[in-house]
Amino acid sequence: MTLSQLGLSAWLVRAFAFVWGCIWASFVNVVVYRIPREMSVVKPASHCPACGAPVRPLDNLPVVSWLVLGGRARCCGAPISPRYVVVELLGGALSLAIAEVIVRALPGDTALAHATSIFLADFGLAMALVAAAFIDAEHMYLPDTITIGGTLFGLATPSLRGLGWGDVFLGAAVGFVGVWLPFIVGYKALRGRPGMGAGDAKLVMLAGAWFGWPGAAFALFAGAIQATIAALVLLGVAGKIDEPEAVRADREALQRAAAQGDVEAKDVLEQDPLGTPPGIGIMAARLPFGPFLCLAIIEWMLAGDWVRDRLAGM
Ligand SMILES: [Zn+2]
Repeated sequence: MTLSQLGLSAWLVRAFAFVWGCIWASFVNVVVYRIPREMSVVKPASHCPACGAPVRPLDNLPVVSWLVLGGRARCCGAPISPRYVVVELLGGALSLAIAEVIVRALPGDTALAHATSIFLADFGLAMALVAAAFIDAEHMYLPDTITIGGTLFGLATPSLRGLGWGDVFLGAAVGFVGVWLPFIVGYKALRGRPGMGAGDAKLVMLAGAWFGWPGAAFALFAGAIQATIAALVLLGVAGKIDEPEAVRADREALQRAAAQGDVEAKDVLEQDPLGTPPGIGIMAARLPFGPFLCLAIIEWMLAGDWVRDRLAGM
């Protein structure tokens, strides 16, 4: 069976893709909450973070439940962060975009199984990147499960993106070394501290493993440009860039433990770049870079061919 033989109405596909995306993104919300807290993402079922009551299935519908309940938990009335709805709508929008931009552009004689594999792989990547972006924005760390796991998945599936093994292995190597050498090793030698985290290098490695070296290069440059714009906007609006609340809270908990003689906590404080309070000034500002890398990788996934054509015509 091929795509054209299936002959589904475009609106049916769009509606299905959007609802599908919202449903899976509500699982992404669970991942964003539980991975940094070292909890299992499958067990137990959802509980209210405020009072611990189990969430009834009907109150757990993506987007709809939040609107019906007016953004408050049914059990105890605690406000539910709008982040949950934002992530769910983002999942719906990305699923729709992948179906429209990538799957619908496939030739009509593409086998249905191949088209489905392409959709599922790209959608899985998009959801993993949304999770990584929100975790990094809150905690300034990128879980290896996502960065290394995503890299391995990309290396295993080049044919879904019309690439060969050489493209993806070279891309991953260029992506990792291209960040690690100048921004971690080189920067540290010059300034005494790394300019990026190892998680950022692994994320650019993932970009290369999925889209070859042009994808890794785009992720790094477009990510840096968008992070700079965001930093300037933040400075213009708020006058300063605060480090994320959870990062400060984690450090203070470690400092209390170290003060009571916890050797392990003392080690972490000395070795982790986040173990000391941020310095003064724009260059020392702690703005997580991961969300901007994730955004740039999604941009390349959806519009990489278009960008390439423009660059080739210059
Ligand atoms: Zn509650």
